[in-house]
Amino acid sequence: MTTDLHHAPNAQYDCLHDLSYANTMALACIADTVVTLTSEAQLDHFMASYTDDSELNSSLFVLSGGSNVLLPTQLQATVLRPDMRGITLINQTQDHVDIEVMAGENWHDLVIHTVNQGWYGLENLALIPGLTGAAPVQNIGAYGVQLEDRLQYVRAYHLPTKTWHHLTAADCKFGYRDSIFKRTPNTWLISRVGFRLHTDATKVLASYGDVQTVAQRYAKLQGRGQLTPIDVMHAIINIRQQKLPNPAQLPNCGSFFQNPIINLSLFTSLQSIYPNIVGYPMPDATVKVAAGWLIEQAGLKGGGIKPIITHKKQALVLTNHSPYQATQADVLAAQNHIINCIYEKFAITLAREPVWVNADGTVGYGEHEV
Ligand SMILES: Cc1cc2nc3c(=O)[nH]c(=O)nc-3n(C[C@H](O)[C@H](O)[C@H](O)COP(=O)(O)OP(=O)(O)OC[C@H]3O[C@@H](n4cnc5c(N)ncnc54)[C@H](O)[C@@H]3O)c2cc1C
Repeated sequence: MTTDLHHAPNAQYDCLHDLSYANTMALACIADTVVTLTSEAQLDHFMASYTDDSELNSSLFVLSGGSNVLLPTQLQATVLRPDMRGITLINQTQDHVDIEVMAGENWHDLVIHTVNQGWYGLENLALIPGLTGAAPVQNIGAYGVQLEDRLQYVRAYHLPTKTWHHLTAADCKFGYRDSIFKRTPNTWLISRVGFRLHTDATKVLASYGDVQTVAQRYAKLQGRGQLTPIDVMHAIINIRQQKLPNPAQLPNCGSFFQNPIINLSLFTSLQSIYPNIVGYPMPDATVKVAAGWLIEQAGLKGGGIKPIITHKKQALVLTNHSPYQATQADVLAAQNHIINCIYEKFAITLAREPVWVNADGTVGYGEHEV
C-alpha cells in the first residue's frame, strides 16, 4: 500500500510491517500500516488526514510493548505506536512528588528511575513488561499494589472525536485488571500519565508471599537494618525472575487467565473435594480462586497443545515454543483445551487476560472461542 507521507510529516510510517517481533508472545503478524508517534503533535497531524474517505480508513489499533496482546497473522489495520518520551517533575513537597510520564517510557525503567530518585510507590510493580501508556489499560497490579493506587490522571486522545482529554483516576473507572480504556477498545490513545509518589523510605509494602524474607536478605547484604523501597524492588525483581519465564527467552504474555471469582457455595463444595483449593474471600461473599492452582490440579502444568504449552514452573503462563511461526489459531486451540478441562473438573469457566486482536484491528474474541 502506498501512503502519502505529507499527511504526517514527522511521524514514522511503515507499510506491511512485521510485528512478529513486537509482541512478547512472538506470534507471527504482518500489519498493513504502522505509524510510530514520537510527539502528540504527530498524532494531531496524522488524525487530521484520517477521514472516512481517505485511503487510511481501516481501524486504528494502539500497540505499545505488545506484552498483553494476541495478534492475528494479517492485521489489516493502522497500528499506532506511541513512542513519546519524557519524565517531568511537576511538583515536590516534603512528603510527596508529582510526576508526569510520557506514554513511550518503558515501565520497568520508570520504576527503577523513580526509586533511584527517592520517589517511592511503584516498586511493587517492578519488572512488569510494557510501556507506561499501556499501564492504565488493565490497571496493572502486582504484590498488593495496583496502578490506580498511584495514578492521578491520564492525558488521552479520543480517537472517534479527535479530541484531547484530561481524565482523573475516577474518570478511568479502574477495576481489577480493568479500566474504561479496556472496556472501550480502539477508542483512546493515552499519551501521558500523572503519578503522585511519596518520599518516605520507611513506608514499604512487603507482606506478599516471600517478598519480606527476600527483601530482608537484600537489606542485610546492603548493611541496612530497616527495609526500604529499594530492598522491596530488588526482592520483587528477584522473585519474578525466578518464577516467570523471560519473554525474550521463552515467548509468553504473562498470566494468561484471570483468577476467576466464584460464589461461596461453589467454593465450599469444591473445598469439600479439594481441601487445598486456593481461594481469597472477596467483600461481596464471592471467592477469588487461583487460576494457576486449578490448571495445576487438572494436570495441565507443562501441558497444553503444542506449540502453546503452560510453563513448567508457573501454570498460569502460556508459552510459545514455536516463536514467530505460531499463530493466534495455535493459542486458541491450547486456550480452549485448558478452559474445557477446567470446566469439566471444577465447573469454573476461565477468562483470558490478554487482549485478542481481530484481523481488522478490532478487539474481541477468537472465532472458535468457547
Ligand atoms: C512476563 C510477563 C509478566 C507480566 N506481569 C504482569 C503483572 O504482574 N501484572 C499485570 O497487571 N500485568 C502483567 N503483564 C501484562 C502486561 O505486561 C501489562 O498489561 C502491560 O501494561 C502491557 O503493556 P504493553 O505496553 O506491552 O501493552 P500492549 O500489549 O502493547 O497493549 C495492551 C493493550 O493496551 C492498549 N494500549 C497500549 N498502549 C496504549 C496507549 N498508549 N493508549 C491506549 N491504549 C493502549 C492496546 O491497544 C492493548 O489493548 C505481564 C506480561 C508479561 C509478558
